[in-house]
Amino acid sequence: MNVPILSYSSGQIIAQRRKSTKALVNDISFSLEEGESLALIGETGSGKTMTALSIMGLLPQNVVQKNGIVYIPQNGMDYLNPSRKVKDQLSDNLEKLGISGKNRETAAAEKLCLSGLNPPENFMDKYPFQLSGGEAQRVTIAISACSNAKLLIADEPTNGLDPETKNRFLQHIHLLFPKAARMLITHDITAAEMCSRVLVLCGGKFIESGSSAIVFDRPKHPYTKALKGALVENGMHQTPVLREGSSDCPFYNRCQYAEQKCRAEIPLKTDGNSQWRCVL
Ligand code: SF4
Repeated sequence: MNVPILSYSSGQIIAQRRKSTKALVNDISFSLEEGESLALIGETGSGKTMTALSIMGLLPQNVVQKNGIVYIPQNGMDYLNPSRKVKDQLSDNLEKLGISGKNRETAAAEKLCLSGLNPPENFMDKYPFQLSGGEAQRVTIAISACSNAKLLIADEPTNGLDPETKNRFLQHIHLLFPKAARMLITHDITAAEMCSRVLVLCGGKFIESGSSAIVFDRPKHPYTKALKGALVENGMHQTPVLREGSSDCPFYNRCQYAEQKCRAEIPLKTDGNSQWRCVL
C-alpha cells in the first residue's frame, strides 16, 4: 500500500464572532497519494480555501504532512515581489534547486512556456506592475513550478485566465508538477473534471465524493446536481432560498427535495463508486 503524501482530518474549524461562534469547516477528511489529483469544489463560502489554509498550517494542527508543499494562491499578483523582474524571481527558486546559472534562463523560459506565457522572452524582463492579472497568475504558477513539490495546493489557479489558457494550464499541470500529488480548489466544474477524484463541499461540510468522472456524470446529491445545473451550457439555474429552518444538511434551505426527515441526522450513503450525505 502506498504511503499518503497527505492525510487530512479537519475536525471543526470555528470562527469566533463577537457574541457567538460559527463552524466554518466540519469533519472533512481525505488522503492523497503520490501522483493523485483531487478537486475540492463548492461555491464561495463552502470551506474550500479554509481547508487549504489549514493544510498549510495557518490553522489548527490536525494535519499529518510531509515536507514539500507548494501553494498557488488565488491572486498571484499579491505574492510577486514588485521590485524584481520575472526572470529574477524564477531564477531565485531555480537556484535553490541547484540549477547552474547558465541553465537557469532556459529552465525559467520553459516554466513560463508551460504556464501559458508565450513567447517567454516577452515576459522575462518585465516587472509585476507591467503584467495583467492573468499574466501575473501564470508567472506565479511558473515560480511555484520551480520546486520539487510533493504536494501542490492550487487555490482557484485558473482565476483570471481566458478559457484557452485555462485549458492549456490544466492539461500541463502534471508537466509543471510531475512528482506532486495535486489538490485543486475550485468552483469551476471544468477544472475539477481534470482531477481524478473530487470532494464536493457545501457550507463547510462534506457533500459527495468519488471519481470525478462518475460524480459529474451521475451526481447523487442535490447540491452536486445544482452545481452542474448552474453551468452555462445547462441553463445557469439558480438555487433560491425555498424555506426557513435549520438542518444538519447545509443545502436544506435551497433543496427542492427536502422533507421532514432532512431535519434529523443525515446518513452517509454509498453505491460502491461514490459517497454522499443525503436522505435520498
Ligand atoms: S438531505 Fe434533504 S435537504 Fe439535504 S440535499 Fe438531501 S434531500 Fe435535500
